[in-house]
Amino acid sequence: MPARWQPAVLDSREPGGWVLAHCQQHFLADSNGVLFPREWLKRQDLPILAEHGLGYFAGDPIYLLELQQPVELAGCSWQGLRQLMLQGDAGTFKMLGFASQIGTWARQHRFCGSCAGPMQPVPGERAMHCPICAIQHYPRLSPSMIVLVTRGAESRPPGDSSAGGRHLLD
Ligand SMILES: [Zn+2]
Repeated sequence: MPARWQPAVLDSREPGGWVLAHCQQHFLADSNGVLFPREWLKRQDLPILAEHGLGYFAGDPIYLLELQQPVELAGCSWQGLRQLMLQGDAGTFKMLGFASQIGTWARQHRFCGSCAGPMQPVPGERAMHCPICAIQHYPRLSPSMIVLVTRGAESRPPGDSSAGGRHLLD
């Protein structure tokens, strides 16, 4: 049974858990996959733009580091979202699609679109707040990217026994 993905707003001031490192629809991966022990990864010298608590994967808290650029890390490589989603099980598929959208949103909402001041995360909400303009920005999560990826999955070569794209949306 695939591990269950459950989105939730987690406080990134809390320690522990697992973390994904994202940059421009790519994720950092090593031989264990895309999830790293969060405290360990944060001790590496990474250009972190933003950190968000994403939810729970198989019951474990999952966070996201959005990076300025895809830096090299020993034993790791950067892998494209689409390829990772096609390889993974349903829980991984949902987690990575969600993480990539939150990461892109976080990158684009570090500064206020009106006054260009730094935005601040809103505790307990998936939102960024400008204290000067008193406005908040929320991510708009699009299912269209997931449809795009599942269409691609239908064109897989015969004999590929992994779950078809349509099942992944259940
Ligand atoms: Zn503002």
